[in-house]
Amino acid sequence: MAAAVSALENGAKKVVILEKLGYLGGSTNVSGGALNAVDDKRQKAQGIEDSVQKFYESTMKGGHNVGNPELVKYLTDNAYPTVEWMEKEGVVFRDKIGAATGSLGQRSHYGKKPAGYAYTSAFENKLKEFGDHVVVLTETPASKLIMDKSGRVIGVSGLHAGKQPVTVMAPSVILATGGFGANVKFRQEVNTGVWKEVTLDNRIGTTNINKAAQGDGLKLAKSAHADIIGLSDIQLHPNGTPGTGLMQDIATSGRNRLFINKNGDRFVSESAARDTLCKAIFKQPDGTYWLLMNKLRYPDENKPDRMGVTMKDMLALGRVKKADTLDEMAKLINVPADHLKAAVAEYNKAASNKGTKDKFGFVATNTDDAPMTEGPWYACLKVPTVHHTMGGVRIDTLARALDKDGKPVPGLYAAGEVTGGIHGANRLGGNAIADVFTFGRQAGASAAQQK
Ligand SMILES: Cc1cc2nc3c(=O)[nH]c(=O)nc-3n(C[C@H](O)[C@H](O)[C@H](O)COP(=O)(O)OP(=O)(O)OC[C@H]3O[C@@H](n4cnc5c(N)ncnc54)[C@H](O)[C@@H]3O)c2cc1C
Repeated sequence: MAAAVSALENGAKKVVILEKLGYLGGSTNVSGGALNAVDDKRQKAQGIEDSVQKFYESTMKGGHNVGNPELVKYLTDNAYPTVEWMEKEGVVFRDKIGAATGSLGQRSHYGKKPAGYAYTSAFENKLKEFGDHVVVLTETPASKLIMDKSGRVIGVSGLHAGKQPVTVMAPSVILATGGFGANVKFRQEVNTGVWKEVTLDNRIGTTNINKAAQGDGLKLAKSAHADIIGLSDIQLHPNGTPGTGLMQDIATSGRNRLFINKNGDRFVSESAARDTLCKAIFKQPDGTYWLLMNKLRYPDENKPDRMGVTMKDMLALGRVKKADTLDEMAKLINVPADHLKAAVAEYNKAASNKGTKDKFGFVATNTDDAPMTEGPWYACLKVPTVHHTMGGVRIDTLARALDKDGKPVPGLYAAGEVTGGIHGANRLGGNAIADVFTFGRQAGASAAQQK
């Protein structure tokens, strides 16, 4: 949708969107909505020190220094201009800047409306303003790119509602089909990177929409001889619900939440990168852990959180346990009370002494960090889940799809999780949404101007 809006603003007369599902928005819609950008205005107001250089360095380092420096620079330089563009398109951001899980910084923006819907709803409304210049075909998976004899992509075809053939001839085609995290067979085939020691079969769930995140765009790109890179870099996220892998209930994003194993102990710095967090979880008894938080995060059980859910709702669903004291919580989650109390005390020491590392490497660097002292306490059992796929179509900073020799495939552009090279071997929390809108905006402009 971002690419479509940008294309129309950059001179395209008509944009046709082919969407596999019955509605627009994909993973972006169900995402937590964290969007990283260095924002002098909001960060300064909160006393957060940051810079685009720091953002660049943490993105490179978090990605094990295998991301493409040019793409990372483009992302980190343009994330804030993208925030401003999104505001112009109707997105309303909260003033408060937070930290997504594994964001390695405090620069995550969130919409005022719940989660990713804050963005998709604004862009869907914006598209409506373009009237006849936009055609949205839902339930229409694209299955083939049409090419001329020279190898230029000149259109796309698919099947609407499983029966009606659709062919769209176009001077430019943008792939924005998302990742392949829900494609269990394919993710196992390519899993030779950070998770090679873990079998990513059905026993591990996914946070993604199953039908959407199948990697269709990779096949399409390949058919046009675009280069596909970094497929082995798959991301697991610690916020999975046992059994499904869906992200539900209290969330690992934000601060002042502890990872507690079945012995009642902390075992990792909660502010670590996602691969570090998940690797630590797999080493714990049953490969699971309790996410523990307290009144600090939920001072009012009736107030919706950033995902639009209240603690009251979560308690009613039954997966979140509540206790007034740590002794009671220890009983509820069946861990030794002395361990649980020691774990909280240790965190509180680090949280009260800004700049002092605890034994897991946790340092209170975030302006929200504070000791967790008061009940009620809340705990929820969590597991690692397949979340994001860092590899995909090789692109340049104009979002042009590139072939194996690094030359643009004429007529083909790509943006978002279908692309590779930006996030290296481990994406920072909050960088996908920044990527999707930054490169989506660029892809739309490039496609309209046939760069
Ligand atoms: C639960 C969850 C929470 C997340 N939270 C965050 C967060 O807070 N911050 C962050 O940075 N990242 C987050 N992420 C990751 C981020 O949301 C995704 O990486 C990002 O939204 C991908 O955007 P996209 O536009 O590339 O793909 P999507 O938003 O998934 O859109 C792709 C669309 O293409 C459609 N499609 C697929 N194949 C075809 C086809 N053949 N033909 C036509 N259409 C097709 C899909 O149906 C889908 O609608 C989260 C992801 C999930 C699942």
